[in-house]
Amino acid sequence: MFEALSSSLQKALSKLRSKGKLTEEDVALAMREVRLALLAADVNVKVIKQFVDRVRERAVGVDVQNSLTPGQQVVKIVYEELTELMGGEQAKIKMAAKPPTVIMLVGLQGAGKTTTIAKLALSFKQHEHRPLLIAADVYRPAAIQQLEVLGTQIDVPVFQLGQSQLPKEIVRQGLRAAQAQGADIVLVDTAGRLHIDEDLMKELEDIQSLAEPDEVLLVVDAMTGQDAVHVAETFHQRLSLTGVILTKLDGDARGGAALTIRSATGCPIKYVGLGEKIEPLQPFHPDRMASRILG
Ligand code: GDP
Repeated sequence: MFEALSSSLQKALSKLRSKGKLTEEDVALAMREVRLALLAADVNVKVIKQFVDRVRERAVGVDVQNSLTPGQQVVKIVYEELTELMGGEQAKIKMAAKPPTVIMLVGLQGAGKTTTIAKLALSFKQHEHRPLLIAADVYRPAAIQQLEVLGTQIDVPVFQLGQSQLPKEIVRQGLRAAQAQGADIVLVDTAGRLHIDEDLMKELEDIQSLAEPDEVLLVVDAMTGQDAVHVAETFHQRLSLTGVILTKLDGDARGGAALTIRSATGCPIKYVGLGEKIEPLQPFHPDRMASRILG
């Protein structure tokens, strides 16, 4: 994951690690290389500038009395700032005080929304929850069927009314079915379009106001880099997202989306998708991701 970013950051910092004393020039040179590494990873330019400025500011004041060498301290600062950039603490799902917890999933077609819903349902099931999936994507012909197949595979019920009902009506009846069946988590699959358009947003807002979800999670494809950030910004403006799920981190995504989304939108990344197979979804840990990047 993020191999190029990882190796160029490690290279930039390796020269500092061993130094007993750091000159301003050493730090400046390393920061220049860090900046280039982040640029090559498709991190937003503004975000890079703030990041490098913060690291430089803190690096200037490193304490020589500390048990770490000044170089090691700068590496630690980079680790801490990378963690912070990705949200600091792990952001967990907010559960409803009174079940069912309703989670609405939104995203563009192909981002991995359907796959992700199945993975999320499986995670909840493994934690002794009783999820129900609501199939409210009535536009993509195979969407409902795909969800049903996945539901059968993971043994989780799917509520659907075919393609002829309005999504809002499907959700209304689906929520009723959840109460009747004693489901404690409802995952609502919504329509994804190829592009963001007004009709899509309006429909999602309608579903949101009807279902009053505890979570509105955007599924975005990490491979699309800054496009993913733009998609997140646009959805967030309309739907006040509570989190992002970044998919396809197992592919050759460069890291730009993972490192930019939080600071650009204020929305935490809650989970990551790491493959096509239906396995429990992985929670996102900013600190673990930062240490993985820094090796
Ligand atoms: P949707 O249109 O957003 O519902 O997307 P789908 O769930 O149908 O996924 C689109 C494609 O992306 C499928 O081929 C999935 O197998 C694949 N996919 C989804 N999540 C991941 C992931 O985390 N990693 C990889 N490599 N592929 C994924």
